[in-house]
Amino acid sequence: MSVRQYLINLKKVLAQKSLKSPFHVVTGNQSADMDSVISSIAFAYLSHNLVTPFNTIIPIINIPRGDFKLRKDIVRLLETHNITEDLLYFVEDYDNIIASSGTTPISLNLVDHNGLQGYEINKSYEEGMVNVVGIVDHHADENKFLDANPRVIRTCGSNSSLVFQHFFELFKTNDKFWHDNTELVGLLLGPLLIDTSNMTQKVEEPDLFAIKEYKNILNNSSSTSQEISGMTNFYSALKTAKKDMSGFSFGDVLKKDYKQFKFANGENVVFSSIGKSIKWVFSNYSKDEVNKTLSDTLKLNKIDLLVITSSYTQKENDKYTREFCFYYEGVNEQFAKLASLVTDQLNLNDDLYGKSKISPVSQFVNAIDGHHLEIYNQINIKASRKQVVPIVKAVLEK
Ligand code: ATP
Ligand code: MG
Repeated sequence: MSVRQYLINLKKVLAQKSLKSPFHVVTGNQSADMDSVISSIAFAYLSHNLVTPFNTIIPIINIPRGDFKLRKDIVRLLETHNITEDLLYFVEDYDNIIASSGTTPISLNLVDHNGLQGYEINKSYEEGMVNVVGIVDHHADENKFLDANPRVIRTCGSNSSLVFQHFFELFKTNDKFWHDNTELVGLLLGPLLIDTSNMTQKVEEPDLFAIKEYKNILNNSSSTSQEISGMTNFYSALKTAKKDMSGFSFGDVLKKDYKQFKFANGENVVFSSIGKSIKWVFSNYSKDEVNKTLSDTLKLNKIDLLVITSSYTQKENDKYTREFCFYYEGVNEQFAKLASLVTDQLNLNDDLYGKSKISPVSQFVNAIDGHHLEIYNQINIKASRKQVVPIVKAVLEK
């Protein structure tokens, strides 16, 4: 059975209301990046192929359906496997699943995160409608759901490698399994290459294990695998699609890879990752749009602080660069000190790429009463959002 066929069958079962409760669901994190989406689809498909103990797992993408098209890399990867948006499930569908579940809590698996994310999932959990039963993740352990089984949490480049490794063990006695499922391996290769910049960054033991096995499986498959023979081209095509923001508003740029957290003192903090420089943003959107979008983003999502973690390679010198940028409104002593509180760990300075483009826009925003926008060059380029979130959380919760 192909992944597409699994999703078609799942649609049918749901439409006929013949899925038995408790419903089993798997979801990735709220950024809904390629790693989260492929990890959840793979987790669902692989669980279904195990004889026991699971039946059918519904993979949910933790964003509104309308925002999916902003992730052009994922759309592209899935399309090459004939998986279209109508076969996928989003936050709106999650609400329906909870509603059809009656009084029985759903069994929820988390991949690519280990604490609940997003308003809908948190709400249903607070209402007693969610049991977290499994976790496979590569973020810092939040020490929640200690009874989950599996509960695999360790660092590595791509979470998809952990999902693969977990099921590889479980399918050990079925040596034909992976060779009959090369299509899934083609899907898993996407996030591995994207998250490790074609196996050059952040590679750890599970990623090495995965790539070795993927090559082994794909090279032995009857059809010569396009993914392996042209691994670099496959990576470049996905990377180009990921960076393609043609037709995007600044709001879309912020929504493309967006995570919202509620910190211990009740603050709602969003971290939006963008694969472009702030210089690019301020060159592509007017100062009025920048200002209005920042302000509207806070209001619409009831956010107290918006952090933008931008990362990109400078064309002129091939230098990988990270920026730490944040926006809030009104008076807030903690936020006013945020840069100095995190600078030990992130190593911030003012040496911004494209400073002459950036300064007029940030001055424009900051001239508006109560608007605060701070932008720094982050010398510690090793700290991606995975590290930035716990650092900011720790200083704000102190
Ligand atoms: P999260 O787990 O919360 O999604 P993250 O750790 O993936 O966060 P981001 O700030 O979104 O963090 O950055 C990840 C992106 O940065 C990846 O797509 C990766 O390809 C890229 N990246 C990380 N380090 C490097 C590097 N040294 N050179 C080039 N690209 C890098
Ligand atoms: Mg990520």
